[in-house]
Amino acid sequence: MDRTRKPQARREFLQRTGLQIAGLAALAPVAIATARAQDKLAPEMVMYQVQPKDGQRCDGCLHFQPPNACAIVNGEIKPEGWCAVWAAKG
Ligand code: SF4
Repeated sequence: MDRTRKPQARREFLQRTGLQIAGLAALAPVAIATARAQDKLAPEMVMYQVQPKDGQRCDGCLHFQPPNACAIVNGEIKPEGWCAVWAAKG
């Protein structure tokens, strides 16, 4: 048995494992963002439009997240936009 080989093998293992863990950690924010984006509805599904409708605007909606996002609809949401699931802020 070659005892001089063990420290070298252990070092290589730790280096490889460390690189793999670092790689996974770097990918985590991307995976989380992707999962969150997939949880939201597509704008077409809720008839999103960039203009208000009957006085209803995204910036008056419960789900609006300033400056240009929505908690339930994916993509850039304009404050003056509107969609079919509009709900008045409480
Ligand atoms: S009306 Fe409300 S739910 Fe619809 S896109 Fe605008 S903020 Fe989101």
